[in-house]
Amino acid sequence: MLVVKVGGSKGIDYDAFLEDFAQYENTILIHGGSHELNEVSTQLGHPPKTLTSVSGFTSRYTDRKTMDMFNMVYAGKMNKMIVEKLQALGINAIGLSGLDGRLFEGPQKKTIRVIENGKKRIIRDDMTGRVEQVNLDLLELLIDNGFTPVLTPPAISHESIPINVDGDRLAAAIASAVNADELVILSNVPGLLKDLDDTSFIENIPRNTIDEHMDQYAKGRMKKKLLGAKEALDGGVLKVILGGARAENPLTNALSGKGTVIA
Ligand code: ADP
Repeated sequence: MLVVKVGGSKGIDYDAFLEDFAQYENTILIHGGSHELNEVSTQLGHPPKTLTSVSGFTSRYTDRKTMDMFNMVYAGKMNKMIVEKLQALGINAIGLSGLDGRLFEGPQKKTIRVIENGKKRIIRDDMTGRVEQVNLDLLELLIDNGFTPVLTPPAISHESIPINVDGDRLAAAIASAVNADELVILSNVPGLLKDLDDTSFIENIPRNTIDEHMDQYAKGRMKKKLLGAKEALDGGVLKVILGGARAENPLTNALSGKGTVIA
């Protein structure tokens, strides 16, 4: 199995990516939708708010209203846009979130300790969490019958509420569950950059140096990609590739090593 995550940041060329993706067999696609959600939630009068945890990770503050919009955009607009395009390319794609058939499940974070204007604060109504288990029976049922799963957050919590989970870490959990050899994570940057103003990326990260790279270079959301990469390798995936999705053939390029290869 080849597991591919395509991000949701501004600048991703979905047509180019999906055309390339459609050339491959035995695939699972995980996607994001952050840019689109920012736009839609702003238009609907509930603009995005970012939380910064005490350990320095950033995440979207997901109250119930945001979760409703999250479902509209991720499981609705983005997921069905991708399924439509793949169907037109001859791929029998099926779009699901973690709620469907409890496809991916985990605990909701009951409280999150954040830093706001330099002060520590505890947030209790954030519908976020992490993926702990994947419903492999359901995934295999789909794959064995010729469907290509197109998966999106939210996940389902143990109490059966939707939870916002990080897409890169979700992709790591899926790749580990299906014993994928490779996980490709495509975003709007060509890989891990040493300097955000530069276009040169770090070509190789040996697995025992992921933490150092995370501390030294990764900022904001890039930290989650490295964390996801680490979790995938720990879960038995042999290689994780971070590649760019702004131009033609992004998946083929990443698989041929153009990107940051983490192994
Ligand atoms: P996606 O939603 O496509 O998965 P993200 O927006 O979550 O992508 O993550 C990619 C972003 O991470 C980049 O657009 C960039 O702004 C940010 N970033 C922070 N540090 C780095 C870094 N060292 N190298 C590359 N990107 C970085």
